Amino acid sequence: MHRTEVTGGKTDLFALPWSEEPLPRSRMGPGPMPAREAYQLVADELALDGNARQNLATFCGTWFEPEVRGLMADTLDKNLVDKDEYPQTAEIEARCVRILADLWHAEGEGPAVGCSTTGSSEAAMLAGLALVRRWRARRKASGQASGTPNLVCGPVQVCWEKFARYFDVELRQIPLEPDRTTTDPARVGDFVDENTVGVVATLGVTYTGAYEPVQEIAAALDELRDRTGLDVPVHVDAAGGGFVAPFLEPGLEWDFRVPRVVSVNASGHKYGLAPLGVGWVVWRDAAALPEELVFHVDYLGGSMPTFGLNFSRPGGPVIAQYYTLLRLGREGYRAVQRACADTAADLADGIAELGPFSVLHAGREGLPVTCWTLAADRTEGGWTLYDVAERLRIRGWQVPAYPLPADRGDTVVQRVVVRHGVSRDLARLLLEDLRTELAELRRRGGGAAAQSGFHH
Ligand SMILES: *Cc1c(COP(=O)(O)O)cnc(C)c1O
Repeated sequence: MHRTEVTGGKTDLFALPWSEEPLPRSRMGPGPMPAREAYQLVADELALDGNARQNLATFCGTWFEPEVRGLMADTLDKNLVDKDEYPQTAEIEARCVRILADLWHAEGEGPAVGCSTTGSSEAAMLAGLALVRRWRARRKASGQASGTPNLVCGPVQVCWEKFARYFDVELRQIPLEPDRTTTDPARVGDFVDENTVGVVATLGVTYTGAYEPVQEIAAALDELRDRTGLDVPVHVDAAGGGFVAPFLEPGLEWDFRVPRVVSVNASGHKYGLAPLGVGWVVWRDAAALPEELVFHVDYLGGSMPTFGLNFSRPGGPVIAQYYTLLRLGREGYRAVQRACADTAADLADGIAELGPFSVLHAGREGLPVTCWTLAADRTEGGWTLYDVAERLRIRGWQVPAYPLPADRGDTVVQRVVVRHGVSRDLARLLLEDLRTELAELRRRGGGAAAQSGFHH
């Protein structure tokens, strides 16, 4: 038998030489290791990671149907960039773009254009680059010199800070008002000038789950154009909301129905319900995507436009995204996201009843997220939300505590992302543990984090 040969007659995995030493940490081993042993030892190391299903910090999917796993395994060898060799994978990607363009109401001068990316971060880079190019072309056409381009935004995800730094764009972040967690549309005009390439509005602010008022921001920019002639496009970072709002709030106009919106991105691997490694960016029409950014790859006698930062990329997540779109349809997505929103609201009710917390976002009119802070008048005992987060870790729950962004940094919040697979039962178990740990913190009159001054 093969295994006996390899293991020299010893059959127990943990009695093999490889198991009797720590795994190599900085230098390759001199020879091969049997596959099963290597697999077991690596898998065992991973047991030290947190349990992904209890990671309530992430927006990314952590539960998948066996069919998704099947397609991912089937497509392990498919390179998305080989459009010539895998024309059907390319066709599937194009179908997804058309489906999303339709979902987001793209009805521009011509057909919408778009592509898959590794996630919303790459999508943000591409959308940002398109804004810069278009601004530069506008400046050139009107015979004006280009200064340093700037991008105006509210409480954006870190990918926009990356974009700004990597591509030499000034990020003009509008400070948050003391009572707000989203951009005040009335202030946007103050930050815009002739070098503004665009305004980013976030549909589903990472910190709280709240939707920014896209329509009102666009209306403020309409007013600015009438007053000053500055005509500034809007990009919507719908990393989370792009796959939630169309199903739960179909009447909310945040997408291409707003004429000023030129492009939209979303993370397929978040509420898109696809496995990790896929995001999407769609432009209203070809005019919104400068031609010089698009590379044309010939395939099957046709020409496939590509735009991306990577060359090789896994095809699996894109194919699995198509599966989820097919499998669930609009009604299916609506049901999944509705269940999440209901659970987030139920959890918010439970958390409000505990006493010391004040709920900032209860899963409605925004992402299915529950976000809370310590009510200002309730800091008895000296413990903080960091202590609460630490105590919840004892039962495996990962519920981060962190400060709100710029100008509201003194407000620390805690957030639970309710997503596919976070059932009502799991949420109740979390709530029961929260109640228990709260009693423990009160009994001790302060937690370890409070005592050691521990902060993230
Ligand atoms: C998660 C997130 C991103 C980054 O998306 P990835 O898909 O993780 O790269 C960008 N913007 C917002 C609002 C997000 O929530």
